[in-house]
Amino acid sequence: MSGRTPTVCPYCAVGCGFYITRNGMEYMPDHPVNEGALCAKGNAALDILNHVERLRYPMMRVGKDWIRVSWDEALDRVAEEMEKVLRERGPKALAFLGSAKCTNEENYIFQKIARLMGTNNIDNCARRCHSPTIIALREMLGTPAMTNPISDLALSDCILVIGSNLAENHPVVARWILRAKDRGAVVIVADPRVTPTSWLADLHMQLNPGTDIALINGMINVILREGLEKRAFINERTIGFENLDLRDYTPERVSAITGLSAGDIIRAARLYARSPASSIVYCMGITQHTCGTDNVAACANLALVCGQIGRPGAGIFPLRGQNNVQGACDMGALADFYPGWRSVEDSRAIDDLRRLWNARSLPMGRGLTADLMPDADLKFLYVMGEDIVNSDPTVSRRRLKRGFMVVQDIFMTDTAKLADLVLPATAWAEKEGTITSTERRVQWIYRAGEPPGEARMDLWILSEVAARIGFDLASEPDEVLAEINQAVPAYRGISRSNAGARGGIIWPCPHKDHPGTPLLHRERFSTPDGKARIIPVHHPALERTSTEYPLILITGRVALHYNSGSMTMRSEGLVKREPEIHIDVNPDDAMRFGLADGDAVMVETRWGRARARAQITQGQKRGTLFMPFHFPETNLIASELLDRKAMMPELKVAACRIRRC
Ligand code: SF4
Repeated sequence: MSGRTPTVCPYCAVGCGFYITRNGMEYMPDHPVNEGALCAKGNAALDILNHVERLRYPMMRVGKDWIRVSWDEALDRVAEEMEKVLRERGPKALAFLGSAKCTNEENYIFQKIARLMGTNNIDNCARRCHSPTIIALREMLGTPAMTNPISDLALSDCILVIGSNLAENHPVVARWILRAKDRGAVVIVADPRVTPTSWLADLHMQLNPGTDIALINGMINVILREGLEKRAFINERTIGFENLDLRDYTPERVSAITGLSAGDIIRAARLYARSPASSIVYCMGITQHTCGTDNVAACANLALVCGQIGRPGAGIFPLRGQNNVQGACDMGALADFYPGWRSVEDSRAIDDLRRLWNARSLPMGRGLTADLMPDADLKFLYVMGEDIVNSDPTVSRRRLKRGFMVVQDIFMTDTAKLADLVLPATAWAEKEGTITSTERRVQWIYRAGEPPGEARMDLWILSEVAARIGFDLASEPDEVLAEINQAVPAYRGISRSNAGARGGIIWPCPHKDHPGTPLLHRERFSTPDGKARIIPVHHPALERTSTEYPLILITGRVALHYNSGSMTMRSEGLVKREPEIHIDVNPDDAMRFGLADGDAVMVETRWGRARARAQITQGQKRGTLFMPFHFPETNLIASELLDRKAMMPELKVAACRIRRC
């Protein structure tokens, strides 16, 4: 390392800035989001850079062994296999998994290769975190993204946090909520569990898992009954309100569904609707359901009915997981959208890209989403920076590999172990390009050091593969960003210069001199007619308990680990403090099933069984269990049911049973 290089945390999507220095890291007090603060994961970010387990050379599988090969051999082989499958089986036998950990430029080029090969079988891990946000907010508001900057939370007078344990998972966001509380704001937390986030709450609503729609519809019922809706806003800025018949969602009936008191439902509705500026903050407790898309729609309905959107402190805040989930999706690394949120069904929008890319034709119609790939008849799979074996409920149970598989990563992950060819890539601080945080903030990351061994930048690898199959694609981040300027309207004015300034720039940025747009939907929504859609939704999560499986298993994150753990499980300090999987059990359930704190237990769902260490805690709602999903065991027992609109797996509600083992 040399000098002091500004960078952005590689973990969650808050986008915290810090410096990498010759001796380690230095805080960045003038960063607009974190103001110098970093959570435990951010503080441990450098642990992965020079880690002894980093991949150093391209490796090819020969029988059960791995042999080191040259880059030329490796790249030739990737191209040969792709072309062979295309020739013999057609484009539908090819699939690509991009990465919300890679830069915008890398995801753009990756999806472009897939599309030029003739397939929409391209996806990324956003499928398992915010695909419902994409579908619902795009349809209802016109833009599938957070409506306000994170710092706006400090301006809110009422903050409804639903399905998010942000104090552990997006800790820097909690700082802005504390600032609002200092001004006298009220915080409502809807979560079945007691968490560090619920400690911030003035009203904690421990609803039954999977009943968010009933709660929100019940709140809207109260708001309409008491005349607290904003009629002028509804009339002038929305359509579809007349279809919103929620008379059945009386507080008493909603109380029976959610397990909450009618009084709390009424109180929450009044607080949210009457406050001068209210915000809704949600995360995967809303999206990771069979009803995930409808859950997001319910949140948007509440904001629209109350006119709590399009103003400072009033908006909808979906908290993205990985550092570049928003950007990977903006770039079209999705089976249902091309760059710039062009639907794969919209031939006219795709035609613009066809001309830009000088392509003869581009594929139409939704490709295979991540969760459908393991069951499909694929003959070639290219995985860039994802450990899907440990993060996808279907993959770990089925044979992912049905043909030639390439994995491009920085570690030999469990997914890489299945591959035929492993390509050593660069970590975030060893390359350049842009990433887009959860608040649409596009920041340039600078190169602070060299990758180990022969590891190469993802963009170089992709352009070399592309060249071997006859595509002349840009290979430098600035060059690719210049093409993104043309392909993605919201990024038209984004450059190294404005994204590289302290805190970068928030899209939409329509031209080079534009200051960015922190607040969306001020005067009009981004739908074609400028009006938001109100869409009634009713159905709860599908999974139910039974005499055989009497408990509900909830999965989620803990403060010290991150997603599949491919990075945090290699950070000594984090592993020491959170070394093994645990399962939270309510004391009444522990007594009912004869469990003591620290017992080894077996948890079984309809999909599988896993061992864990019992942790008896009053914070767990009776009748529910909680397991963190950073460990492969959790993935073995998660539900395989899908939200059919967004193809999101149900990761928050699985009927289960537990016993000592
Ligand atoms: Fe990194 Fe997120 Fe923690 Fe910020 S809040 S330091 S971005 S993990």
